[in-house]
Amino acid sequence: MGGTEQKYINEAFESNWIAPLGPHVDGFENDLVTYTGATHAAALSSGTAALHLALIMLDVKPGDEVICQSMTFSASANPIAYLGATPVFVDSEEETWNMCPVLLKEAINDRIARGKKPKAIIPVHLYGMPAKMDEILAVANEYGIPVLEDAAEALGSSINQKAMGTFGLMGVLSFNGNKIITTSGGGSLISDDKEYIVKSRFLATQSRDDAPHYQHSEIGYNYRMSNVCAAIGRGQMEVLNAHIDLRRRNWAFYKDAFAPFDGISMLEEPEGYFSNRWLSTILVDPKVSGGVTKETIRLALQEDNIESRPLWKPMHAQPVFNGAPFYRNGVSDKLFQNGLCLPSGSNLTVTELDRIKKVLAGIFSNR
Ligand SMILES: *Cc1c(COP(=O)(O)O)cnc(C)c1O
Repeated sequence: MGGTEQKYINEAFESNWIAPLGPHVDGFENDLVTYTGATHAAALSSGTAALHLALIMLDVKPGDEVICQSMTFSASANPIAYLGATPVFVDSEEETWNMCPVLLKEAINDRIARGKKPKAIIPVHLYGMPAKMDEILAVANEYGIPVLEDAAEALGSSINQKAMGTFGLMGVLSFNGNKIITTSGGGSLISDDKEYIVKSRFLATQSRDDAPHYQHSEIGYNYRMSNVCAAIGRGQMEVLNAHIDLRRRNWAFYKDAFAPFDGISMLEEPEGYFSNRWLSTILVDPKVSGGVTKETIRLALQEDNIESRPLWKPMHAQPVFNGAPFYRNGVSDKLFQNGLCLPSGSNLTVTELDRIKKVLAGIFSNR
Protein backbone atom coordinates (compact mmCIF):
# COMPACT_ATOMS: atom_id res chain seq x y z
CA MET A 1 0.00 0.00 0.00
CA GLY A 2 1.16 3.51 -0.80
CA GLY A 3 -0.57 5.39 2.02
CA THR A 4 -3.44 7.29 0.42
CA GLU A 5 -5.62 4.15 0.12
CA GLN A 6 -6.69 4.65 3.76
CA LYS A 7 -7.81 8.21 3.03
CA TYR A 8 -10.05 7.02 0.19
CA ILE A 9 -11.44 4.18 2.34
CA ASN A 10 -12.26 6.66 5.11
CA GLU A 11 -14.15 8.76 2.55
CA ALA A 12 -16.17 5.68 1.59
CA PHE A 13 -17.04 5.01 5.24
CA GLU A 14 -17.81 8.63 6.06
CA SER A 15 -20.16 8.96 3.08
CA ASN A 16 -21.60 5.46 3.82
CA TRP A 17 -20.98 4.26 0.25
CA ILE A 18 -20.39 0.62 1.23
CA ALA A 19 -21.84 -1.03 -1.87
CA PRO A 20 -20.85 -2.32 -5.29
CA LEU A 21 -21.32 1.17 -6.68
CA GLY A 22 -20.43 4.69 -5.58
CA PRO A 23 -18.12 7.64 -6.21
CA HIS A 24 -14.88 5.64 -5.86
CA VAL A 25 -16.05 3.09 -8.44
CA ASP A 26 -16.65 5.95 -10.88
CA GLY A 27 -13.38 7.61 -9.85
CA PHE A 28 -11.36 4.41 -10.25
CA GLU A 29 -12.86 3.84 -13.70
CA ASN A 30 -11.81 7.38 -14.64
CA ASP A 31 -8.30 6.73 -13.30
CA LEU A 32 -8.04 3.60 -15.47
CA VAL A 33 -9.24 5.44 -18.56
CA THR A 34 -6.73 8.22 -17.96
CA TYR A 35 -3.87 5.82 -17.32
CA THR A 36 -4.45 3.35 -20.16
CA GLY A 37 -5.84 5.70 -22.78
CA ALA A 38 -8.78 3.34 -23.33
CA THR A 39 -11.97 5.33 -23.84
CA HIS A 40 -14.08 3.35 -21.34
CA ALA A 41 -13.56 1.11 -18.32
CA ALA A 42 -15.85 -0.95 -16.07
CA ALA A 43 -14.62 -1.81 -12.56
CA LEU A 44 -15.53 -5.42 -11.79
CA SER A 45 -15.08 -7.99 -9.03
CA SER A 46 -12.17 -9.77 -10.75
CA GLY A 47 -10.23 -10.19 -13.96
CA THR A 48 -11.89 -13.57 -14.37
CA ALA A 49 -15.31 -11.89 -14.22
CA ALA A 50 -14.17 -9.42 -16.89
CA LEU A 51 -13.11 -12.28 -19.19
CA HIS A 52 -16.41 -14.08 -18.56
CA LEU A 53 -18.52 -11.01 -19.40
CA ALA A 54 -16.43 -10.22 -22.48
CA LEU A 55 -16.93 -13.74 -23.87
CA ILE A 56 -20.68 -13.51 -23.19
CA MET A 57 -20.79 -10.26 -25.17
CA LEU A 58 -18.82 -11.91 -27.99
CA ASP A 59 -21.71 -14.39 -28.14
CA VAL A 60 -19.69 -17.46 -27.08
CA LYS A 61 -22.13 -20.33 -26.67
CA PRO A 62 -21.98 -24.06 -25.81
CA GLY A 63 -20.08 -25.95 -28.50
CA ASP A 64 -18.22 -22.88 -29.77
CA GLU A 65 -14.43 -22.72 -29.90
CA VAL A 66 -12.24 -19.94 -28.47
CA ILE A 67 -8.51 -19.69 -29.14
CA CYS A 68 -6.41 -19.10 -26.02
CA GLN A 69 -2.71 -18.84 -25.30
CA SER A 70 -1.60 -22.09 -23.65
CA MET A 71 1.21 -20.53 -21.63
CA THR A 72 -0.87 -18.68 -19.03
CA PHE A 73 -2.69 -18.87 -15.70
CA SER A 74 -5.89 -20.96 -15.70
CA ALA A 75 -8.09 -17.87 -15.31
CA SER A 76 -7.50 -17.00 -18.99
CA ALA A 77 -9.17 -20.25 -20.07
CA ASN A 78 -11.72 -21.05 -17.34
CA PRO A 79 -14.36 -18.56 -18.56
CA ILE A 80 -14.39 -20.36 -21.94
CA ALA A 81 -15.42 -23.50 -20.07
CA TYR A 82 -18.02 -21.58 -17.97
CA LEU A 83 -19.86 -20.99 -21.26
CA GLY A 84 -19.70 -24.61 -22.39
CA ALA A 85 -17.28 -23.68 -25.17
CA THR A 86 -14.01 -25.45 -26.01
CA PRO A 87 -10.63 -23.77 -25.56
CA VAL A 88 -8.24 -24.26 -28.48
CA PHE A 89 -4.73 -23.74 -27.14
CA VAL A 90 -1.91 -22.13 -29.12
CA ASP A 91 1.77 -22.35 -28.20
CA SER A 92 4.14 -19.41 -27.67
CA GLU A 93 7.02 -17.82 -29.56
CA GLU A 94 10.41 -17.36 -27.86
CA GLU A 95 10.77 -13.57 -28.04
CA THR A 96 7.92 -12.66 -25.67
CA TRP A 97 6.77 -16.13 -24.47
CA ASN A 98 3.27 -15.20 -25.68
CA MET A 99 0.93 -16.48 -28.42
CA CYS A 100 2.82 -17.34 -31.61
CA PRO A 101 1.16 -15.49 -34.53
CA VAL A 102 2.33 -18.11 -37.05
CA LEU A 103 0.76 -20.96 -35.09
CA LEU A 104 -2.32 -18.84 -34.50
CA LYS A 105 -2.90 -18.67 -38.23
CA GLU A 106 -2.35 -22.42 -38.61
CA ALA A 107 -4.80 -23.07 -35.78
CA ILE A 108 -7.50 -20.87 -37.31
CA ASN A 109 -7.12 -22.50 -40.74
CA ASP A 110 -7.29 -25.96 -39.21
CA ARG A 111 -10.34 -25.17 -37.06
CA ILE A 112 -12.14 -23.71 -40.09
CA ALA A 113 -11.20 -26.79 -42.16
CA ARG A 114 -12.72 -28.94 -39.41
CA GLY A 115 -15.94 -26.96 -39.63
CA LYS A 116 -15.81 -24.32 -36.88
CA LYS A 117 -14.54 -20.77 -37.02
CA PRO A 118 -13.23 -19.70 -33.57
CA LYS A 119 -15.40 -17.06 -31.88
CA ALA A 120 -12.56 -15.13 -30.21
CA ILE A 121 -8.80 -15.03 -29.65
CA ILE A 122 -7.30 -14.52 -26.17
CA PRO A 123 -3.62 -13.54 -26.19
CA VAL A 124 -1.95 -12.93 -22.81
CA HIS A 125 0.87 -10.54 -21.83
CA LEU A 126 2.67 -12.96 -19.57
CA TYR A 127 4.59 -11.60 -16.58
CA GLY A 128 4.00 -8.12 -18.05
CA MET A 129 5.73 -8.73 -21.40
CA PRO A 130 3.52 -7.59 -24.30
CA ALA A 131 2.51 -10.21 -26.87
CA LYS A 132 3.24 -9.48 -30.55
CA MET A 133 -0.01 -7.60 -30.99
CA ASP A 134 0.62 -6.23 -34.50
CA GLU A 135 1.09 -9.73 -35.90
CA ILE A 136 -1.72 -11.26 -33.84
CA LEU A 137 -4.16 -8.51 -34.85
CA ALA A 138 -3.17 -8.87 -38.51
CA VAL A 139 -4.11 -12.57 -38.41
CA ALA A 140 -7.29 -11.90 -36.40
CA ASN A 141 -8.41 -9.17 -38.82
CA GLU A 142 -7.72 -11.36 -41.82
CA TYR A 143 -10.32 -13.81 -40.51
CA GLY A 144 -12.58 -11.27 -38.80
CA ILE A 145 -12.18 -12.81 -35.34
CA PRO A 146 -12.35 -10.46 -32.31
CA VAL A 147 -9.34 -10.25 -29.97
CA LEU A 148 -9.88 -10.19 -26.22
CA GLU A 149 -6.61 -9.14 -24.59
CA ASP A 150 -5.76 -10.68 -21.23
CA ALA A 151 -3.67 -7.85 -19.77
CA ALA A 152 -4.21 -9.04 -16.18
CA GLU A 153 -0.45 -9.12 -15.56
CA ALA A 154 0.44 -6.16 -17.75
CA LEU A 155 -1.03 -2.95 -16.33
CA GLY A 156 1.54 -0.31 -17.24
CA SER A 157 3.12 -2.32 -20.06
CA SER A 158 3.02 -0.93 -23.59
CA ILE A 159 4.14 -1.21 -27.20
CA ASN A 160 5.33 2.09 -28.67
CA GLN A 161 3.67 3.90 -25.73
CA LYS A 162 0.26 2.30 -26.39
CA ALA A 163 -1.02 0.55 -23.26
CA MET A 164 -1.60 -3.18 -23.22
CA GLY A 165 -5.31 -3.92 -23.03
CA THR A 166 -6.09 -1.26 -25.64
CA PHE A 167 -5.04 -3.22 -28.74
CA GLY A 168 -7.91 -5.72 -28.89
CA LEU A 169 -11.65 -5.12 -29.10
CA MET A 170 -11.66 -5.41 -25.30
CA GLY A 171 -8.95 -5.75 -22.67
CA VAL A 172 -8.94 -7.32 -19.20
CA LEU A 173 -7.07 -6.02 -16.14
CA SER A 174 -6.72 -7.63 -12.71
CA PHE A 175 -6.18 -6.13 -9.26
CA ASN A 176 -5.93 -9.41 -7.40
CA GLY A 177 -3.67 -9.50 -4.33
CA ASN A 178 -0.64 -10.72 -6.27
CA LYS A 179 -0.78 -8.25 -9.17
CA ILE A 180 1.24 -5.06 -9.72
CA ILE A 181 -1.45 -3.06 -7.93
CA THR A 182 -4.27 -4.57 -5.90
CA THR A 183 -7.76 -3.75 -4.64
CA SER A 184 -7.53 -7.00 -2.57
CA GLY A 185 -9.60 -8.56 -5.34
CA GLY A 186 -10.87 -6.86 -8.46
CA GLY A 187 -10.62 -6.44 -12.18
CA SER A 188 -11.65 -4.28 -15.07
CA LEU A 189 -12.85 -4.51 -18.64
CA ILE A 190 -11.57 -1.72 -20.88
CA SER A 191 -12.51 -0.84 -24.45
CA ASP A 192 -12.81 1.97 -26.96
CA ASP A 193 -16.30 0.70 -27.70
CA LYS A 194 -18.71 2.29 -25.24
CA GLU A 195 -21.46 -0.26 -25.89
CA TYR A 196 -19.42 -3.15 -24.54
CA ILE A 197 -18.58 -1.31 -21.34
CA VAL A 198 -22.14 -0.13 -20.74
CA LYS A 199 -23.39 -3.66 -21.39
CA SER A 200 -20.76 -5.18 -19.06
CA ARG A 201 -21.92 -2.93 -16.20
CA PHE A 202 -25.51 -4.05 -16.89
CA LEU A 203 -24.61 -7.76 -16.90
CA ALA A 204 -22.44 -7.27 -13.79
CA THR A 205 -25.39 -5.88 -11.79
CA GLN A 206 -27.78 -8.82 -12.34
CA SER A 207 -28.99 -7.47 -15.71
CA ARG A 208 -31.55 -5.28 -14.01
CA ASP A 209 -33.85 -3.62 -16.54
CA ASP A 210 -34.73 0.06 -16.30
CA ALA A 211 -37.97 -0.23 -14.32
CA PRO A 212 -39.23 0.87 -10.87
CA HIS A 213 -39.55 -2.79 -9.83
CA TYR A 214 -36.96 -5.54 -10.23
CA GLN A 215 -37.27 -6.79 -13.78
CA HIS A 216 -34.85 -8.98 -15.75
CA SER A 217 -34.91 -9.94 -19.43
CA GLU A 218 -31.47 -11.55 -19.39
CA ILE A 219 -29.40 -13.73 -17.05
CA GLY A 220 -27.27 -11.46 -14.87
CA TYR A 221 -24.16 -11.69 -12.71
CA ASN A 222 -22.97 -10.13 -9.47
CA TYR A 223 -19.61 -8.94 -10.78
CA ARG A 224 -19.40 -5.23 -9.90
CA MET A 225 -16.52 -3.85 -7.84
CA SER A 226 -17.28 -2.64 -4.33
CA ASN A 227 -16.84 1.06 -3.55
CA VAL A 228 -14.47 0.08 -0.70
CA CYS A 229 -12.23 -1.94 -3.03
CA ALA A 230 -12.33 0.89 -5.58
CA ALA A 231 -11.14 3.23 -2.79
CA ILE A 232 -8.04 1.04 -2.42
CA GLY A 233 -7.66 1.09 -6.20
CA ARG A 234 -7.66 4.88 -6.33
CA GLY A 235 -4.82 5.02 -3.82
CA GLN A 236 -2.96 2.25 -5.66
CA MET A 237 -3.12 4.15 -8.95
CA GLU A 238 -1.01 6.84 -7.28
CA VAL A 239 1.82 4.34 -6.68
CA LEU A 240 1.49 2.25 -9.86
CA ASN A 241 4.38 3.91 -11.67
CA ALA A 242 6.55 3.63 -8.56
CA HIS A 243 5.72 -0.11 -8.38
CA ILE A 244 6.72 -0.52 -12.03
CA ASP A 245 10.05 1.21 -11.33
CA LEU A 246 10.68 -1.11 -8.37
CA ARG A 247 9.77 -4.24 -10.35
CA ARG A 248 12.06 -3.16 -13.17
CA ARG A 249 14.79 -2.49 -10.62
CA ASN A 250 14.38 -6.09 -9.37
CA TRP A 251 14.71 -7.35 -12.93
CA ALA A 252 17.86 -5.28 -13.54
CA PHE A 253 19.33 -6.55 -10.27
CA TYR A 254 18.84 -10.18 -11.33
CA LYS A 255 20.16 -9.46 -14.80
CA ASP A 256 23.34 -8.16 -13.22
CA ALA A 257 23.51 -10.94 -10.61
CA PHE A 258 23.24 -13.70 -13.24
CA ALA A 259 25.57 -12.07 -15.76
CA PRO A 260 28.69 -13.99 -14.63
CA PHE A 261 26.95 -17.38 -14.95
CA ASP A 262 26.52 -19.27 -18.22
CA GLY A 263 23.23 -20.87 -19.16
CA ILE A 264 20.89 -18.38 -17.48
CA SER A 265 18.90 -16.08 -19.74
CA MET A 266 16.32 -13.39 -19.11
CA LEU A 267 13.66 -12.10 -21.46
CA GLU A 268 14.72 -8.82 -23.10
CA GLU A 269 12.19 -6.28 -24.36
CA PRO A 270 11.87 -6.24 -28.15
CA GLU A 271 12.31 -2.75 -29.65
CA GLY A 272 9.43 -0.45 -28.66
CA TYR A 273 8.16 -2.92 -26.05
CA PHE A 274 7.90 -1.87 -22.41
CA SER A 275 7.24 -4.50 -19.72
CA ASN A 276 6.08 -3.66 -16.20
CA ARG A 277 8.28 -6.64 -15.20
CA TRP A 278 5.51 -7.87 -12.91
CA LEU A 279 7.61 -10.94 -12.22
CA SER A 280 11.33 -11.43 -12.82
CA THR A 281 11.85 -14.76 -14.52
CA ILE A 282 14.85 -16.75 -15.72
CA LEU A 283 15.40 -19.59 -18.17
CA VAL A 284 18.04 -22.16 -17.33
CA ASP A 285 19.81 -24.17 -20.00
CA PRO A 286 21.38 -27.12 -18.13
CA LYS A 287 23.53 -27.97 -21.17
CA VAL A 288 25.35 -24.65 -20.81
CA SER A 289 25.03 -24.08 -17.05
CA GLY A 290 27.28 -26.96 -16.03
CA GLY A 291 24.31 -29.06 -14.96
CA VAL A 292 22.52 -26.42 -12.90
CA THR A 293 18.76 -26.73 -13.47
CA LYS A 294 15.85 -24.55 -12.45
CA GLU A 295 15.28 -27.10 -9.66
CA THR A 296 18.86 -26.69 -8.39
CA ILE A 297 18.19 -22.99 -8.04
CA ARG A 298 14.69 -23.38 -6.61
CA LEU A 299 15.83 -25.86 -3.95
CA ALA A 300 18.92 -23.83 -3.01
CA LEU A 301 16.72 -20.76 -2.50
CA GLN A 302 14.20 -22.83 -0.52
CA GLU A 303 17.04 -24.05 1.70
CA ASP A 304 17.51 -20.41 2.71
CA ASN A 305 13.74 -19.94 3.19
CA ILE A 306 13.39 -17.96 -0.08
CA GLU A 307 10.40 -18.85 -2.24
CA SER A 308 10.65 -19.14 -6.01
CA ARG A 309 8.29 -20.95 -8.38
CA PRO A 310 8.31 -22.64 -11.79
CA LEU A 311 6.69 -20.64 -14.61
CA TRP A 312 2.97 -21.18 -15.30
CA LYS A 313 2.28 -24.75 -16.28
CA PRO A 314 0.76 -24.46 -19.77
CA MET A 315 -2.97 -25.11 -20.16
CA HIS A 316 -2.52 -27.90 -22.72
CA ALA A 317 -0.68 -29.86 -20.01
CA GLN A 318 -3.31 -29.28 -17.31
CA PRO A 319 -5.39 -32.34 -16.36
CA VAL A 320 -8.59 -30.25 -16.41
CA PHE A 321 -8.08 -29.34 -20.10
CA ASN A 322 -7.05 -32.82 -21.15
CA GLY A 323 -8.19 -33.47 -24.73
CA ALA A 324 -8.56 -29.81 -25.74
CA PRO A 325 -7.07 -29.07 -29.18
CA PHE A 326 -3.51 -27.73 -29.01
CA TYR A 327 -1.24 -26.25 -31.69
CA ARG A 328 2.33 -26.98 -30.60
CA ASN A 329 5.86 -25.84 -31.41
CA GLY A 330 7.43 -26.98 -28.13
CA VAL A 331 8.13 -23.51 -26.69
CA SER A 332 5.73 -23.51 -23.73
CA ASP A 333 6.77 -27.04 -22.69
CA LYS A 334 10.41 -25.89 -22.70
CA LEU A 335 9.55 -22.75 -20.73
CA PHE A 336 7.77 -24.80 -18.07
CA GLN A 337 10.64 -27.27 -17.95
CA ASN A 338 13.42 -24.70 -17.57
CA GLY A 339 11.84 -21.48 -16.29
CA LEU A 340 11.70 -20.04 -12.80
CA CYS A 341 9.92 -17.01 -11.26
CA LEU A 342 12.17 -15.24 -8.76
CA PRO A 343 11.10 -13.15 -5.76
CA SER A 344 9.66 -10.04 -7.42
CA GLY A 345 7.69 -7.99 -4.90
CA SER A 346 7.64 -4.21 -5.12
CA ASN A 347 8.69 -4.22 -1.44
CA LEU A 348 11.88 -6.33 -1.80
CA THR A 349 14.71 -4.63 0.11
CA VAL A 350 18.32 -4.33 -0.97
CA THR A 351 19.26 -6.63 1.93
CA GLU A 352 16.82 -9.27 0.68
CA LEU A 353 18.07 -8.98 -2.89
CA ASP A 354 21.63 -9.39 -1.65
CA ARG A 355 20.63 -12.53 0.26
CA ILE A 356 19.22 -13.97 -2.98
CA LYS A 357 22.40 -13.03 -4.83
CA LYS A 358 24.52 -14.85 -2.23
CA VAL A 359 22.55 -18.06 -2.73
CA LEU A 360 23.05 -17.80 -6.51
CA ALA A 361 26.79 -17.21 -6.14
CA GLY A 362 26.93 -20.25 -3.82
CA ILE A 363 25.32 -22.53 -6.43
CA PHE A 364 27.67 -21.55 -9.20
CA SER A 365 30.87 -21.44 -7.10
CA ASN A 366 30.32 -25.15 -6.38
CA ARG A 367 30.64 -26.05 -10.06
C1 LIG B 1 -4.55 -12.97 -12.41
C2 LIG B 1 -4.85 -13.36 -13.79
C3 LIG B 1 -6.17 -13.44 -14.26
C4 LIG B 1 -7.39 -13.34 -13.41
O1 LIG B 1 -7.53 -12.24 -12.63
P1 LIG B 1 -8.33 -12.33 -11.25
O2 LIG B 1 -8.54 -10.89 -10.93
O3 LIG B 1 -7.44 -13.03 -10.27
O4 LIG B 1 -9.61 -13.06 -11.50
C5 LIG B 1 -6.37 -13.72 -15.61
N1 LIG B 1 -5.34 -13.94 -16.44
C6 LIG B 1 -4.08 -13.90 -16.01
C7 LIG B 1 -2.99 -14.13 -17.00
C8 LIG B 1 -3.78 -13.64 -14.68
O5 LIG B 1 -2.51 -13.63 -14.24
